[in-house]
Amino acid sequence: MPRVIPLADARRSTPPLVGAVPDVEPSGLLADTRGRMLRDLRISVTDRCNFRCVYCMPKDVFGSDYPFLPHADLLTFEEITRLARIFKAHGVEKIRLTGGEPLLRRDLERLVAMLAGIGGLDLTLTTNGSALAAKAADLKAAGLGRITVSLDSLDDTVFRAMNNVDFPVARVLAGIDAAARAGLAPVKVNMVVKRGVNQHQILPLARRFRHSGHILRFIEYMDVGHTNGWRMDDVVPSAEVIRTIDRELPVEPIDPNYPGEVAERWRYADGGGEIGVISSVTRAFCRDCTRARLATDGKLYTCLFATTGYDLRAMLRDGHSDAEIGSYVAAIWLQRADRYSEIRSENTVALPKIEMSYIGG
Ligand code: SAM
Repeated sequence: MPRVIPLADARRSTPPLVGAVPDVEPSGLLADTRGRMLRDLRISVTDRCNFRCVYCMPKDVFGSDYPFLPHADLLTFEEITRLARIFKAHGVEKIRLTGGEPLLRRDLERLVAMLAGIGGLDLTLTTNGSALAAKAADLKAAGLGRITVSLDSLDDTVFRAMNNVDFPVARVLAGIDAAARAGLAPVKVNMVVKRGVNQHQILPLARRFRHSGHILRFIEYMDVGHTNGWRMDDVVPSAEVIRTIDRELPVEPIDPNYPGEVAERWRYADGGGEIGVISSVTRAFCRDCTRARLATDGKLYTCLFATTGYDLRAMLRDGHSDAEIGSYVAAIWLQRADRYSEIRSENTVALPKIEMSYIGG
């Protein structure tokens, strides 16, 4: 007899899963309704950020009165680590810590060490880089493998305007240097390109990171959340980014590192290194998406654009066993059918969405 676990979701009143949760022995081979395996887990360790990037956490929404989650609602490091083990047993190979700004979570190095202690996981982190110069060496020592730094402009005036808290670009660049020195390599640098805002920074960033050993990646601006007022016209398609670079610095495509890699890889024809483009809007990669997302309060989402989260924190705090939680995760994954980016249109923009800072970017 399958065990019945109540599937109440704290965010929505409708139970999201159909039927009872059968026992699923962890085999590492969970495939969803489209044959996509569970391989990656993104964990948002805080919904807070010290930046107010205009396209992500605009100040008029995320002001001083914004109700960020109280500390008691956050998963503890012990809870995160326990879930990480359960997810690993079901096939997860890579964990990315994110947020909000993950380096704002106090003692994050302790969590990194706990996750590294699980063994066999590719452990990485995405940061705005503001605290990286101070923390890179400790993160590496704790067992972090690699790091991705978001950087939307080299021009200090543009950068300060985009983060909207007047944060100087030089400190992020110092953070990138510190990460490389600490051995968190290759450092990936992600630039979200928004038309009319930072498009003119594509070439300066390309020039800066050529021959650096870092991998610069350009990300299409997406309609995440509700607060950024997204319009298709704001998107600079990856093809346009590549044309812009190629005119001055010829590039050629290279093979993916593995099937279904999200970034398309290119290299400078003169040996200057590698760049990537992430075409989340113009070439949706839902077909190959193997990613689950654990929000700051322990709700599990199976798509960046999902609106229903499954409350794993309630299961942890209600005394369920690892086997029960694992079976619940498996049931969620087995029923997964999301492919938002493939069906995105001007009409889907208005659908309810979850903010990226909470679900984890
Ligand atoms: N605070 C960390 C950081 O800055 O990298 C991690 C969280 S942040 C939400 C993760 C990434 O999502 C950043 O690179 C950010 O630029 C990107 N991002 C946020 N909103 C986006 C959007 N609407 N479209 C594309 N990327 C977005």
